[in-house]
Amino acid sequence: MEVKNICCIGAGYVGGPTMAVIALKCPHIKVTVLDANPEKIKAWNGTLDSLPVYEPGLAEVVKEARGRNLFFSNDIAGNIEKAEMIFMAVNTPTKTEGEGAGMAADLRYIEACAYDIAKYSKSDKIVIEKSTLPVRTAEKIKDILDKNSTNIHFEILSNPEFLAEGSAIQDLFKSDRVLIGGDESESGQQAVKALVDIYANWISKEKILTTNVWSSELAKLASNAMLAQRISSINSLSALCEKTGADIKELSKAIGSDHRIGPHFLNASVGFGGSCFQKDILNLVYLCKYYGLDEVADYWHHVIKINDFQKKRFAQKILDYFGGNLNGKVILILGWAFKENTNDSRESPAIYVSNYLFKAGASLVIFDPKVSQNNIISDIENYWEIKYKESSENLLILDELETANLNIDCIAIPTFWSQFEKFLLRFSSDLNTYNKPIFQIKN
Ligand code: ADP
Repeated sequence: MEVKNICCIGAGYVGGPTMAVIALKCPHIKVTVLDANPEKIKAWNGTLDSLPVYEPGLAEVVKEARGRNLFFSNDIAGNIEKAEMIFMAVNTPTKTEGEGAGMAADLRYIEACAYDIAKYSKSDKIVIEKSTLPVRTAEKIKDILDKNSTNIHFEILSNPEFLAEGSAIQDLFKSDRVLIGGDESESGQQAVKALVDIYANWISKEKILTTNVWSSELAKLASNAMLAQRISSINSLSALCEKTGADIKELSKAIGSDHRIGPHFLNASVGFGGSCFQKDILNLVYLCKYYGLDEVADYWHHVIKINDFQKKRFAQKILDYFGGNLNGKVILILGWAFKENTNDSRESPAIYVSNYLFKAGASLVIFDPKVSQNNIISDIENYWEIKYKESSENLLILDELETANLNIDCIAIPTFWSQFEKFLLRFSSDLNTYNKPIFQIKN
């Protein structure tokens, strides 16, 4: 089966960059990215310097493919009907209420998506899970699709996204592997082949792994859990280094030089963030508990507990430096995104650390190169549970760093961006501030 028309529901951090790269590499396929949020679609169709997702290299890809074979649209019904292959890349946050609250994935967006696909499809479709999902979600999706349609065959594939934010475009260009999970039936294998053929336009065949659906779903959760585990392992050791006088940077290098361990993901930090790591581990923990594997659940849960410990430890260190009282202190917070080179601040350690310092009495001046003022304000309102307007005399969000007033008591860097270096040099060499502390977990 040759696919000529694909669509993707969800134009966020996963759907946007992934579809842009598919369109770039497959000019013979029409790719339409859909979203329920009209503002988002408008922004994807707008100027290249204010696309909804910031990723190095993304604007160039969009520039080349948009209007040629890449389209962004609100017409969900019409585009579902036309597509032979439909990707689902909607958000799957952790449930906040009901059974599994705080742990299980909230599948309401995925379910809404499945209802739409069932409603608007008039011919057979290949439906692809792109978002991270709990194991066996494909069954639920199939159930919704089959119960809400007649005489249409839906084939569900799992094709989880492994891109790292901040290097998404490069990751999509040269994936370590592409994973495609499908049913073992003949129609399942035909659908797998149709998707393999798309990726084979730019990914070599040996990097395209095909599995059954559940292996693919679980591989995504397990990969993220193991990556996060490395961060928590090195972060737990950073706490010990600070007590013993060992240097975490030297330790990371020494550990990572062992080829069995390898050097990647061994940088100490204030903790991991992003929409996936915590959510995926919680999903894994929930799954283990469901199957009665309490020891396995506890083991993975500790990866998150160390992450929480590290964030708190960092904030507490600042509080201790000022003798437990931050009243009247002005702290410059540098870096709000959960890591360098993204405008995504979901689960960012900066949100937690700043809240801790603010609640201890500090006034904060906040700067991030890519996260917009509006996003910072909405993070503050959602997670600190305060009204920004009512606290704005103690909270200042900067548009530019170079013009920042140096009349501050210390700098805290939850997320380091290389462009801070020049400013930090100026700060350290200014006569009035040269002995004022800069708090960061160096790597
Ligand atoms: P991710 O990081 O997984 O890509 P995002 O939150 O960045 O998550 O993007 C998910 C997108 O999916 C959002 O832009 C949201 O508006 C969109 N979305 C969620 N549910 C639906 C739906 N039922 N139909 C269309 N779009 C949806």
